[in-house]
Amino acid sequence: MPIPLHDPQHDSGGTLKRLPLLKAAVLFIVAVCLSLVGLLYLQLQQSRSHDLEQAQVASENLTRAMAQQAEDTFMKADLVLSSLADWLQADSYGAAQLPRLQKTFARRVLALNQLHGIFLFDRQGQWVVTSFEALPRGKGVADRDYFKFHEQNTSSQAHIGPAIRSRENGEWIIPLSKRVNDRNGKFAGVLLAGIKMSYFDQFFKSFSIDDNGSMFLALTDGTLLARRPFVEAQIGSTLAQGESFQKWLPSASSGNAMVTAVVDGVVRLHGYRQLDAYPLVVSAASSQAAILKHWSDTAFQSSVIVGLVVLGVGLFGWVFIHQVRNGERIEADLRAAQETLELIATHDSLTGLANRRLFERALDIEFGRGARLASSLSLIMLDIDFFKRYNDAYGHVVGDHCLAEVAGAVQACCQRKADLAVRYGGEEFAVLLPNTDLRGAMVIAEEIRRKVMGKNITHTGSPTGCVTVSLGCYSFVPSGRDSIEVFIERADAALYQAKHSGRNRVAVLSMEDVGDALMRSDR
Ligand code: GH3
Ligand code: MG
Ligand code: MG
Repeated sequence: MPIPLHDPQHDSGGTLKRLPLLKAAVLFIVAVCLSLVGLLYLQLQQSRSHDLEQAQVASENLTRAMAQQAEDTFMKADLVLSSLADWLQADSYGAAQLPRLQKTFARRVLALNQLHGIFLFDRQGQWVVTSFEALPRGKGVADRDYFKFHEQNTSSQAHIGPAIRSRENGEWIIPLSKRVNDRNGKFAGVLLAGIKMSYFDQFFKSFSIDDNGSMFLALTDGTLLARRPFVEAQIGSTLAQGESFQKWLPSASSGNAMVTAVVDGVVRLHGYRQLDAYPLVVSAASSQAAILKHWSDTAFQSSVIVGLVVLGVGLFGWVFIHQVRNGERIEADLRAAQETLELIATHDSLTGLANRRLFERALDIEFGRGARLASSLSLIMLDIDFFKRYNDAYGHVVGDHCLAEVAGAVQACCQRKADLAVRYGGEEFAVLLPNTDLRGAMVIAEEIRRKVMGKNITHTGSPTGCVTVSLGCYSFVPSGRDSIEVFIERADAALYQAKHSGRNRVAVLSMEDVGDALMRSDR
């Protein structure tokens, strides 16, 4: 159904407001993309911290295993030395016992894989007997730290010293030594078990750690005893200034922490544990990159997939928004075209006033409204006086121009929104005035008449010398059963009266005229 163009009560905005589709689409797409990225971020954060937690557990287990192994290794050697020291102290030793002692030493070394050799030194640091058959010749070990330690300390506790190179065969050994006393408790020499550093290397190698990872065994004062990867230059060097010895060990005997190495800038998870029985510390480190390798691979894949999805959604959104915009543009064009068509179909092209089609539609609406509200509806019919003569005198083109001028004057007098100026036909016009009584209609009619005259359009064929109009007014209160034709006819009859009473005037339908008109319409 076409929209009635002349309906002052009609709300052109309508109650059905169009949803802001474009805004909703943009918001929806942005929300989807943000949700996807947010979910990915949360999921990656979670799996990252899960992987790091797992690595901490693994690091704890690894250092526990290392500590256990180190303790076992030293404990067994310690037990061997203790039994030998007790025996030596109880029985002392002379040249006769030496071959037996040598055999005992050798048997013990054979029994324990970690042992490089067992050595007995006299109080001057000279070899007395060793697990090796030939006694080394040389200046002895009086200069070694462990020897000096036992010389000066009466403690029977085992002592672990910094790694040294064996004077036997150049092998790296970790010296575990004990003081030997004579029967009187005086210093009688030192018993030493050399523990192979390679024993720890083998053990460290049995674990799988990444290329940037490391494992070490050190004294609690920071002296490095064994390390994977093995770097000979570092053996014996001190780690005392490292974070493990400065920060962590003083506060807890085991733990782990993520640290960026000053040397290579690599971030590592360091696990450490101090042994209960010996002044030893073990530590294992794995690079963060290796720990998170699986995570970063998955993160990359997930990010690529989410990135592609976001790109797809964005692309779809762009196409969708483009389409919606196109649709809106087409719709606006169509609406404009429809409005133009509607305007063409309902308005007169020469004067721009409503045509009869719109007039009839408006009459229909106003008859209904007038009946509902019991308000008067008025109609003015007007006709240009002696217009035939005008045409004849000035030609049709000037005549058309004059028609437009008169139409302008009529339109100018229609002040209210509901008033409708119509080109009824030829040089006849109508003015529909809803909610206006006869008096009001006459006022407006008179106003139109004056306005047209005021235009002072020269018309030599008219007695007044200018273009004038005659107007007929009719007014009534619609009842709901009224005829449009009768309504027009009555206003027309008033116009007829105006013409006959001398033109250039306003006439209203007298009661007799109404009677005549009624009779005419009955016929
Ligand atoms: P009256 O005062 O009795 O109305 O005299 P009149 O000459 O105006 O008589 P009538 O109403 O019969 O004349 C209508 C004339 O209006 C006839 C025609 O030449 C002219 N006319 C009608 N439509 C148009 C139009 O669209 N353009 C022009 N230029 N003239 C028109
Ligand atoms: Mg006429
Ligand atoms: Mg006329």
